[in-house]
Amino acid sequence: MQRQPLVIANWKMNGDRHLVASMAEALRESAAKHPQVDVVVCPPAVLLPAWQQAAFYDNLKLGCQDVNEHGHGAHTGEHSVALVQEAGVSVALVGHSERRQFYGDTAERIAAKVNTLQASGMTVVLCVGESAQQREQEQTFVVVAQQLHDALQHVEQCSNLVIAYEPVWAIGTGLTASPGQAQEVHAFIRNWLSDKFGPAGANLQLLYGGSVKADNAEQLFAQADIDGGLIGGASLVPEQFVAICNAAQ
Ligand code: PEP
Repeated sequence: MQRQPLVIANWKMNGDRHLVASMAEALRESAAKHPQVDVVVCPPAVLLPAWQQAAFYDNLKLGCQDVNEHGHGAHTGEHSVALVQEAGVSVALVGHSERRQFYGDTAERIAAKVNTLQASGMTVVLCVGESAQQREQEQTFVVVAQQLHDALQHVEQCSNLVIAYEPVWAIGTGLTASPGQAQEVHAFIRNWLSDKFGPAGANLQLLYGGSVKADNAEQLFAQADIDGGLIGGASLVPEQFVAICNAAQ
């Protein structure tokens, strides 16, 4: 079965209303060049209402960069699934390496977030990937398999699940995994998902993330098991991001 290409913008803690307007306009104008590509924009939460008001087209969805695993209550500064849904969000990143490293996303919390999101019907984009040291020590497959196991251990059916392979050494560094390096890990992930979930797992969308730019996107997306990208820095520049969406077509 043909998998739908998917490109996700992760704005991290960047952007403003002006960028929302110019990005929404650039995406709407270019939509005819990437009609088959699902595009998701994950801005900072306070910019979600601005995105809701911006020009929309069919394949554009709103995402969030994280959610809290609890339903509601005394969790200062956090956002529940219900709150982000209120702001039009249907896709959530979980386990981004910056959250794993700096904001207390342990394996247990990531699993809890995946479970909460799955129960809500939202799409989960689970981020996995090894550090430079782990790659040097040839631990890439071990680390990725462990992260998948930890996050998905209570998941029985895999609808609304996307995996983003993001080698930590490639995120925001300008170092991109070669298409061959990326493909090798994507193939490994697809096998792992197939073993756990059967044919439905083998057919999940797998994204590559880590310094994807307009000039390397096409080669990466041409790999057999790469269905699109999770884009950080280049998703803040409308021409770059549009070019990456076009490359996924
Ligand atoms: C990311 O943070 O998910 C990411 C892939 O960032 P960048 O594209 O800037 O490497």
